[in-house]
Amino acid sequence: MAQGTFATAINCMDGRTQLPVNRYMKETCGADYVDTITEPGPDGILGDQKDAALIESIRKRVEISVLKHGSKNIAIAAHHDCAGNPVELKVHLDQVDRAVELIRSWGFDCTVIPLWLGEDFEVRVIDDAFKEEVRG
Ligand SMILES: [Zn+2]
Repeated sequence: MAQGTFATAINCMDGRTQLPVNRYMKETCGADYVDTITEPGPDGILGDQKDAALIESIRKRVEISVLKHGSKNIAIAAHHDCAGNPVELKVHLDQVDRAVELIRSWGFDCTVIPLWLGEDFEVRVIDDAFKEEVRG
């Protein structure tokens, strides 16, 4: 096993999302390092599930982070103004819900943490209160 503690982030390739998510995972999970898996709009990829090969590629990368680095926490991040997945916030939240379900179905012994980055690119956990706020 690698030295230090690791967390995993499935994040957008968008450069605005990297540092905030990385910092959040280090602070909240006590991780020394964050293994980052980037795709354009990963919530759309894992939520809509239209590209099985790409999903398997993401799953394999998560597996390395979990099995080789001992990660116990997997973030799935979505964000405002996503060029790779330009949908409304409500749609992002539906996609994130399905993405969380899919990631859990992979069977890793990990907590899955859904994250949203709004206009300010600050990290917010997508919890029930946030969902209620958005969905009304
Ligand atoms: Zn994006």
